Amino acid sequence: SRAQLFDKESNVKINFSDVAGLEEAKVEIMEIVDFLKNPKKYTDLGGKIPKGALLVGPPGTGKTLLAKAVAGEANVPFFSLSGSDFVEMFVGVGASRVRDLFKQAKEKSPCIVFIDEIDAIGRARGKNANFSSNDERENTLNQLLTEMDGFGTNSGVIILAATNRADILDRALLRAGRFDRQIHVELPDSKERLEIFKVHLRPLKLPAVFDSEFLAKQTPGFSGADIANVCNEAALIAARKNKDVVEKQDFLDAVDRIVAGLEKKNKIISLEE
Ligand code: ATP
Repeated sequence: SRAQLFDKESNVKINFSDVAGLEEAKVEIMEIVDFLKNPKKYTDLGGKIPKGALLVGPPGTGKTLLAKAVAGEANVPFFSLSGSDFVEMFVGVGASRVRDLFKQAKEKSPCIVFIDEIDAIGRARGKNANFSSNDERENTLNQLLTEMDGFGTNSGVIILAATNRADILDRALLRAGRFDRQIHVELPDSKERLEIFKVHLRPLKLPAVFDSEFLAKQTPGFSGADIANVCNEAALIAARKNKDVVEKQDFLDAVDRIVAGLEKKNKIISLEE
């Protein structure tokens, strides 16, 4: 709902073992976990801890999951909001939400602030400036920039933001001292898909002999979110057939269903263009 723009202080239990694949991204983001856990190690040597990092990659590849895992690993609170919540917001509300969020974060530092879909507020300014909703977006973006500059580098608040369109972001966001680090999160390859399947097969009841390799081979182009979907859908299909375990055929049916769904979505997107 509009009223609740960000989770309060959610007790995050997600850690790196929930994030499959993404080895490079994990190595890079591990640094941030260490900044949160051992800030003195860096500041004693005169280092400035970065304020934030941008997670860049296609939808459903685990950007949100990775941000939550950072909070989980460092054992710090996770505050989040989504850029899309700010679209069509009343004048002044967006900026004040941003101000509130950072006020809370500062009180609870060290912590993570996560901004999903930052492109919705962080698109380059000055285009289509005659739309009033755009002015409000601009106010929100300006407030975000003000907040980022306002707190000290060593405040213990680290901002992670996610986007699939880093190219359209306002340059001001990418300047040194703001989101000057980018971490790329790509679609998984076959080996990574297998690892993601293993995570999402954990809660499922499977036959005693079950070789999951075929799943990775059947799902080129699938994101982690698609894979999570396949596993859940397969369980629902098996349950509908009153089975005790989820079998290979249920997974194949689930893959077909997800592929059909993706094709439909692509068709709609291409019709819109
Ligand atoms: P969006 O850009 O659409 O917000 P995202 O990149 O933030 O997507 P997530 O919300 O993190 O993607 O992923 C959605 C769900 O897909 C996760 O909650 C998880 O169940 C699953 N998932 C995605 N990537 C992975 C991964 N690498 N390992 C395990 N599960 C994953």
